[in-house]
Amino acid sequence: MKAFAYVSAPDVATAVRAIATEPRAKFIGGGTNLVDLMREDIERPDTVVDISGIALTGVEELAGGGVRIGAMVRNSHLAAHPLIRSRYPVLAQAILAGASGQLRNMATVGGNILQRTRCPYFYDRAAACNKREPGSGCDAFGGFTRNHAVLGGSESCIAAHPSDMCVALAALDAVVEVESVRGVRRIPLVEFHRLPGATPHVETDIAADELITAVELPALPVATTSRYRKVRDRASYAFALVSVAAALEVQHGTVATVRLALGGVGAKPWRAHEAERLLLGAAPTEESFRRAAAAELAPAVAQPHNAFKIELAERTIVATLAQLLAAGGAA
Ligand code: SF4
Repeated sequence: MKAFAYVSAPDVATAVRAIATEPRAKFIGGGTNLVDLMREDIERPDTVVDISGIALTGVEELAGGGVRIGAMVRNSHLAAHPLIRSRYPVLAQAILAGASGQLRNMATVGGNILQRTRCPYFYDRAAACNKREPGSGCDAFGGFTRNHAVLGGSESCIAAHPSDMCVALAALDAVVEVESVRGVRRIPLVEFHRLPGATPHVETDIAADELITAVELPALPVATTSRYRKVRDRASYAFALVSVAAALEVQHGTVATVRLALGGVGAKPWRAHEAERLLLGAAPTEESFRRAAAAELAPAVAQPHNAFKIELAERTIVATLAQLLAAGGAA
């Protein structure tokens, strides 16, 4: 690991000032991803700005029924919070489906959003990886691709986004608030992560000197019965092969409201806009669920080891929507 300077920031103003003058600095919160990357010599900051003492730890109700979540809220705390469990169960379920208890106790909301891919070639410095070293190539092509993306990838990178939490946030229309010495910006979660294109090393829309300070969830009555369903190779501590975050409201025999996002299949947390478009106003039948799922996966591009994800994603979408319907999504 490269030697680095350490700065402890007691508040947001100090943190963003510290990083503004240190272009090769990194914020550290829970450290559950950054420390691994520094040990592997993949992240090599000159300075680490410790934000773990900043009081961005609230989960507060907003006027109008939404919720504001501080960026330093630990994942385990958020999953257990009564406001989240009652109004956005899909978010609590997604968090509890990710990582291990120990990691959830350390990992923060802001860090979860910024976590980097778990593509094994990214972590292997002997492998070519355009994300780690732009222009070096991608050893995933022709390699082992069971966990790679089928939606949103490019000729440069097919890494899947690893977060469960972000899939729920995408379905819930979450907005990420970031702050720097230039002021505050608000970025919809669905626009926060970038597709790899020709620049897979550029993963998000946040600038190097901006700090995530909060995530806001809008009031969303349909989310009170939302669900997260995750399919993985083992029962715990495994990344999604496919996951689905969904909410469904049926009125007078047709779909009145639907939220659908996918994990494990996309190069970013994947909001299923096409499936939602087809479902809105349709009869809530297995046939319409199947048609919507197939349309969402139609642009999928598979590699030799991950072609199974396409049918698995379609089936998981149908099963999750059917489960919501059976649980009382109709009025
Ligand atoms: Fe790197 Fe992306 Fe290729 Fe994985 S898929 S080796 S992260 S460029």
